[in-house]
Amino acid sequence: MTAAIDHQLKMFISRAEKLFGARDSGFDVTPVEVGAFDDAPIIWYPTKHAGRQMTVRLKREVLQFPHQLRYQLAHEAVHFLSPAPVRAPLIEEGLAVWFSLQVSKPFYVAETSKQMPVNYRRALEFALHFMKRIPLPRLREYRVSNPAFHAWTPEMLVADLGFDTNYATEACTIVDMRI
Ligand SMILES: [Zn+2]
Repeated sequence: MTAAIDHQLKMFISRAEKLFGARDSGFDVTPVEVGAFDDAPIIWYPTKHAGRQMTVRLKREVLQFPHQLRYQLAHEAVHFLSPAPVRAPLIEEGLAVWFSLQVSKPFYVAETSKQMPVNYRRALEFALHFMKRIPLPRLREYRVSNPAFHAWTPEMLVADLGFDTNYATEACTIVDMRI
């Protein structure tokens, strides 16, 4: 079972890389951990202080709900592009929400959209707007020299992408999504 989940995660990471640009290949993707984790789903660094390994922690219950599992894995896959044991900025979370909906079945998208928490909706709307201004090929190109979303600063986005300060600051705001 977990081998299939690992495979699915790797497929999503690879799809996310095709859309948003390469991940930091200095981090190894280790097997997904499934258990009674209070804060799961979450990106997990098994050897936080010693190594460059990362994976996803899932709650055991999600294994019974394949569409939810898919949604969660796809969201976390986007976080593999920019490893950091810190919370992610709004733009990264927004792309994660968008991508997780992209790979979900229409009925699940409809269901999820009805009850989407306000911070998810905000992140998604920001990402949709961002992708209109900065099409994906341009984003991929920008991430070649600026791969880590958490290292983006408002000043960079103003200078490099022509954003106004408020929009650039919003993109870089750290948000607590819990996944
Ligand atoms: Zn997230």
